[in-house]
Amino acid sequence: MDDVESKNDAAPAAGRAVTPLGAARLAVLFGLLTGALELTQWLVRNAVSGGVSLGTFQMSRHFFWMIPASNLAIFAATGLALGLVAWLRPAWAGRFSLWAMGFLCGLALLLTVPGLYAFAAVALAAGVGAITARHGSAHPVRVQRLLVVAPLAVGAVAVGLLGWDRIQGTLVDRRPGSTTAGTSGVEGSPNVLLLVLDTVRAESLSLYGYDRPTTPNLNRLAARAIRFDQARSTAPWTLPSHASLFTGRWPHELGVGGEHTRLDRTHPTLAEALSARGYATAGFIANTFFCNAWFGLGRGFEHYDDFYEEQTAVSLEEALRCSSLGRLAVRALSDPFGGVERRRKDASRINAAFLSWLDRKEDDRPFFAFLNYFDAHGPFVPPEGADRPFGRPPATPEEEALIREWDVRSRAGVTDEQLALARDSYDDCLAYLDAQIGRLFDDLERRGVLDDTLVVLTSDHGEELGEHDLIGHGRSLYDQETRVPLLVFLPGGARGGEAVAEPVSLRDVPATVLDVLGGEGSAFPGVSLAGRPSAEAPVLTEVRIKDGSSSNPARPPAWRGPMSGVVADGHAYIRNADGREELYDVLADPRQLRDLAPEAESATLLERMRGRLKELATDRGE
Ligand SMILES: [Zn+2]
Repeated sequence: MDDVESKNDAAPAAGRAVTPLGAARLAVLFGLLTGALELTQWLVRNAVSGGVSLGTFQMSRHFFWMIPASNLAIFAATGLALGLVAWLRPAWAGRFSLWAMGFLCGLALLLTVPGLYAFAAVALAAGVGAITARHGSAHPVRVQRLLVVAPLAVGAVAVGLLGWDRIQGTLVDRRPGSTTAGTSGVEGSPNVLLLVLDTVRAESLSLYGYDRPTTPNLNRLAARAIRFDQARSTAPWTLPSHASLFTGRWPHELGVGGEHTRLDRTHPTLAEALSARGYATAGFIANTFFCNAWFGLGRGFEHYDDFYEEQTAVSLEEALRCSSLGRLAVRALSDPFGGVERRRKDASRINAAFLSWLDRKEDDRPFFAFLNYFDAHGPFVPPEGADRPFGRPPATPEEEALIREWDVRSRAGVTDEQLALARDSYDDCLAYLDAQIGRLFDDLERRGVLDDTLVVLTSDHGEELGEHDLIGHGRSLYDQETRVPLLVFLPGGARGGEAVAEPVSLRDVPATVLDVLGGEGSAFPGVSLAGRPSAEAPVLTEVRIKDGSSSNPARPPAWRGPMSGVVADGHAYIRNADGREELYDVLADPRQLRDLAPEAESATLLERMRGRLKELATDRGE
């Protein structure tokens, strides 16, 4: 043991002794340093690679202060414990404090290294602790000075290297970009409300003939909407599907590959176009995994609620979860799923946040609001107190595990009874969501807003519930994953009750909105769904994965490589990554059980489909 004495009480790094106050101060300084280092490494990694990874931690745009604050809180709490040690055992508390601080700081940073096993991180962090204890004991004053200067230096170097604008723009992209949309007057323009029911497949809705009454409210509301019976999302998972919905572009045009890519600024978004027209714009999202501003989906919105918690308050847990140590602590201290529930905002909270924003809005600009609901996404657990008309809560640990781990299960590991339970639970979630949508419409009607509003209600993708031996989404381009509900409520209820049988794509939503609003030409490609649909309108579905854009190539959506599909001529055509083709009759075989591709009489149709696919999916992304 070193015998270097510190003359300064505040320099707690003395080899032999430390006061409780000194230990606490050391902890605070290390907390600041760790916060600065953790934040900076994210900034540098994201700015350099262009990749996005923080969004998958459900981190809100407040990460800038949350990451340092979270570290500070954890280190300060540790400092209290060290203070106690210093009071009880002053003789060796100095060295032990240094070791503990070095260990925590090292662990915080090592936990952010992708692919590093936890035990390796702990072992390496212990080494960092040992080095810190040795040097800190030998040079207490120097270490203390370093601790004060280092966080400032780290931050300054990061900003100097990357530039503040680049850091901010790369990470949280809410700045409106240039838009070519007209800025024609806003007077008398209707409001626009885009409702995305995440993970809701058309075939499980009584709106589309499902034998269970899962959507009595949508059935009722459809009387004032145009109902599209063959609507397809552009992709079977959230990020590219929303990106298409916002830009009118196909996934291969967007470069939104795996879950480590973002919607870049190449194409204008619907929110930007409406903002330029003088609309008040706001987004309220429950899918905090992929809809948050990290992925570029907040661009153009004045107000973007991508928090997990209430819109105005940040909870301790949320702030804590922003740092790697905080996530570890939250996981250790509480069941991460709270029984079989996962952290999520339910539909009633999304509605409440939107309505409260609407009530607070003081000017008389029309609004564009985007609401994303997550209730039908796995794990299928309706909020507490919600009716369960079709199912029951899981009764055994196996059933709990099934519901909790639904997203990562494979069909082979699930019995038929378990599958039935999951399906019942999914239907219960749909019923809950439907009830909340009904309430939202009633609330808007009461406020006198509904008649003046263009509402587009749809989903970003569906879900496989055992069909094709698949579970979840992002797995395939089958209709279970790509055929989605679509209701377009024109202002005043025009054309209410009409049904459209032609296949349409959600990429046409921006063009539709601008068409209904009228005025100058639309910046968005595609056709207006408010016009008479053409059977020739292109309907393309895609999974595009760029190299290095996926965190795990063995898992969906990357696992089967790029896929493309076309719906036309009454058929759905799918081309898999290995070149294998599939062909299904859309109306005669809606569940896609009988592949027509191998049959001799399909040859002409297949040839035509290949031609269409080639036309649509120019090989930019492959
Ligand atoms: Zn989704």
